[in-house]
Amino acid sequence: MRNNIVAGNWKMNNDATQTTTLINDLNKALEEVSVNCRVLISPTSINLTSAVALTQDSVIEVAAQNMHQAKNGAFTGEISAAMLNDVGIKSVILGHSERRTYFGEDDQILTEKVASALENNLEIIFCFGESLEDRKSGNHFKVVESQLKNVVLSLSASSWKHIVLAYEPVWAIGTGETASPEQAQEMHAYIRSLLVSTYGTSVAEHVSILYGGSVKPTNAKEIFSKEDVDGGLIGGASLKASDFTGIITSF
Ligand code: PEP
Repeated sequence: MRNNIVAGNWKMNNDATQTTTLINDLNKALEEVSVNCRVLISPTSINLTSAVALTQDSVIEVAAQNMHQAKNGAFTGEISAAMLNDVGIKSVILGHSERRTYFGEDDQILTEKVASALENNLEIIFCFGESLEDRKSGNHFKVVESQLKNVVLSLSASSWKHIVLAYEPVWAIGTGETASPEQAQEMHAYIRSLLVSTYGTSVAEHVSILYGGSVKPTNAKEIFSKEDVDGGLIGGASLKASDFTGIITSF
């Protein structure tokens, strides 16, 4: 069956010292509880190497927040999939709404990034989700379907061993407003139905679909209890060890 996963997206937060402190606090906190899901954190790229070292003996896995699609070359400021591999990173978040909105990442760029990540054996946490306008106008299913069709639904069935989906309605990211457990389940069931119709049940049943958008220790259990919600991608609440641990122990 599919994995339950709680992944923290630290965004552009935590310098080197804060990264070390938070990882040490999390390592300690997670030793004292029972952890029934995969746990990932994604520090900023400059702190990935130290994060990998600090989690050597821990349940915590480290993911990158982004990567460039090219193998190497004249792309000032960028980092390739092979460079992530080289420092021991095995997962990467792609398609986060902040990357789409502020850095112009469109379906074409994301298609190239996904291909490069797969070529380098990286697991992909692929993010997508509708805007408030899309939801209000009743276009949310259509928008999500096209975000998936344009990038990941044409991949081979075998690629799906390396892909985790993260449904993140943009109106719920960092706003304190959460999709209700029913809204999350409704969309996750729809996403799984797209996987079933494209690849069949055995592939679809093995893909973890995470929900992201203002998940907190107080609402995680109810959201994660829904049949097609296999965990969460957590922004703000992943920056505090006690909150993130509270979300992890919701499983
Ligand atoms: C995110 O950035 O992926 C996210 C879900 O953020 P938050 O939990 O803060 O809404």
